[in-house]
Amino acid sequence: MQLVRQKDEPDVKRRGSGRTGQARGGTGRGRGYLRRRPGHAVLAALLVAAVGSGCAAGTDSHTATGAGRTAKAHAGQPGGPAGNAGAAGVRAAQAEKVRLAQAARAVAAKKWGLAGTPLAAPAPPAVKPHITTRKGFEVEGGDDSLPPVFTTVPTDKKIVFLTMDDGDDKDPELLRMMSDLDIPYSAFLSDYLVRDDYGYFKDAQARGVSLNNHTLNHRYLPGLSRDEQKKEICDQQDIIEKEYGTRPRLFRPPYGNYNGDTLRIAKACGITGVPLWSEEAFPDHMEWREEDQDLHPGDIILTHFRGRKDWKGAMPDLVRAVMKVITDKGYAVARLEDYA
Ligand SMILES: [Zn+2]
Repeated sequence: MQLVRQKDEPDVKRRGSGRTGQARGGTGRGRGYLRRRPGHAVLAALLVAAVGSGCAAGTDSHTATGAGRTAKAHAGQPGGPAGNAGAAGVRAAQAEKVRLAQAARAVAAKKWGLAGTPLAAPAPPAVKPHITTRKGFEVEGGDDSLPPVFTTVPTDKKIVFLTMDDGDDKDPELLRMMSDLDIPYSAFLSDYLVRDDYGYFKDAQARGVSLNNHTLNHRYLPGLSRDEQKKEICDQQDIIEKEYGTRPRLFRPPYGNYNGDTLRIAKACGITGVPLWSEEAFPDHMEWREEDQDLHPGDIILTHFRGRKDWKGAMPDLVRAVMKVITDKGYAVARLEDYA
């Protein structure tokens, strides 16, 4: 598989012990995550920032999946009353449902100014793929019992995953847009940016967005003591559970930096996977992390809840830009939590 591109940015500050640093070629994945916010700047240096994702209103496709499975079950029942004709009927109804959903998405795409209609993702797998830590992303003394750190989900389907991080910008238009388009995404939340308006993400959650852990204060974890890391990771688990009723399974360390303590603590607090990313999306460009500068089946795309004060556009501009890349390359967006 492709190598993560080594690219240093001049204002990226290196930290010695960060795990991501060890990834490719030993000196540090110098992809700078630069969050230009006062008070947040110091750590901003290191690696990649992750974006959280949730699933926007995947209702139609999920229902469709259910129908598909029903069809299969009926077809497999020897002499069952449903028979082949019944199964065919279910399949036809299912196909019609998919067709209608895609027609609705075409209307929504026009309404929201997308260059093309987002492609429909295939039904999620009945069994999630076995995900292992990407080569070069291991921690010292780590083994298979730790949550895997990965940038791509193993699949041969032309799907990618959209993840949005931090939670600073809370644009109501984003929620409506993603629901209209029926595009899933996952959120990775940092409490210090979210706590002024938990309600925004409650709304996102009601629309199908999964809320995952991106720590309490977005600190550089390898620079913290075990106790401090535990507070950053596990207290955020508790807050999300208290505010939203579900305890995250997925965790993304700020800047993509972690060490063995990070993974052991995350595991102890209920985390089963650590998705990083293969590409980062901005309203005006993509930052590619693989050498071939392209999307690959199962790639995780990072972006952020940000607004015009942070970059060149509002969240709908970001969505239009990243969806153009994804759709033009023939990919559909799937829901990360269906696979990881
Ligand atoms: Zn972040």
